[in-house]
Amino acid sequence: MIFLRQDLLSGEWVGLNADRQERPLTEATSCPFCPGEKTEVGNVPFDVAVFENKFPAFQSPGSAEVVVYSPRHEDDLAYLPRDNAQLVWQAWKDRSQSLEERADVQSVFIFENRGGKVGASIAHPHGQIYAYPFLPPRLERERVRFESNCPLCARNDQESLVLFENRLWRIEVPYAMRMPFQLWLFPSRHVPRLKELTPDEMTSGAALMQDIVRSYDSYFGLRTALVMALYQDVSMGSAYHMRWDFLPIDRGQGKTKYLAGSELAMGAFVVDMIPEFVKKELTPVWDRIHHG
Ligand SMILES: [Zn+2]
Ligand SMILES: [Zn+2]
Repeated sequence: MIFLRQDLLSGEWVGLNADRQERPLTEATSCPFCPGEKTEVGNVPFDVAVFENKFPAFQSPGSAEVVVYSPRHEDDLAYLPRDNAQLVWQAWKDRSQSLEERADVQSVFIFENRGGKVGASIAHPHGQIYAYPFLPPRLERERVRFESNCPLCARNDQESLVLFENRLWRIEVPYAMRMPFQLWLFPSRHVPRLKELTPDEMTSGAALMQDIVRSYDSYFGLRTALVMALYQDVSMGSAYHMRWDFLPIDRGQGKTKYLAGSELAMGAFVVDMIPEFVKKELTPVWDRIHHG
């Protein structure tokens, strides 16, 4: 039984799902995303598979889907061959496009929880798509800022901490980052949503995404637990400028960023490092990984 309830005090929507307690938390028996007779993906050969999430946070209205990036259990999106990473991007684009056409969908959110620390209950490489029947609060707030002028196009140089840029994409440390080592990846031109990316932007974006995660892994010396999240506006408007956010939970061996009082209770983030430091630290790693 799944409920959507609106909070009396803030007006924010919350998804409540009693059945979700039963979802598989360990792989004691077998992986549901590996090819096989009785698994979610079955025995049909695939490169990328998409199916309805059996244990969604939201459903009806809206939808939740799982995207399995590879048939191989040990794979990782960041280290897939470039062609396969592009296939994942293509699957995201296709699904986003068909979900946003549904009358009950207001927002299509594509994301990956990478690593058990951010709640990935199954190790097999996969991500998720939530098609929300409402506009999530973060997006609602951001939309207002985009109304008159795009903050990503009209940049103040002082506030642009650019890690990398080419003709198609920019990678920046957010001027007011919410998490240590947070990064943005966004198209150089004004693109509101995934489905409007050109084939060139898709190809380049897929490679840059891989290199960002590889850079984290190299810098921290571990398989970095992080959330990778697509912000896009799937309504008909063109004010919004899409981007990927990379939100690492790890910040080194044995060091984890936990959300605590200010973040959890007030939604006000407190970060104990500055983005200028992040840019300085990540630049040589990025140069080595991306050009190396
Ligand atoms: Zn598996
Ligand atoms: Zn823009």
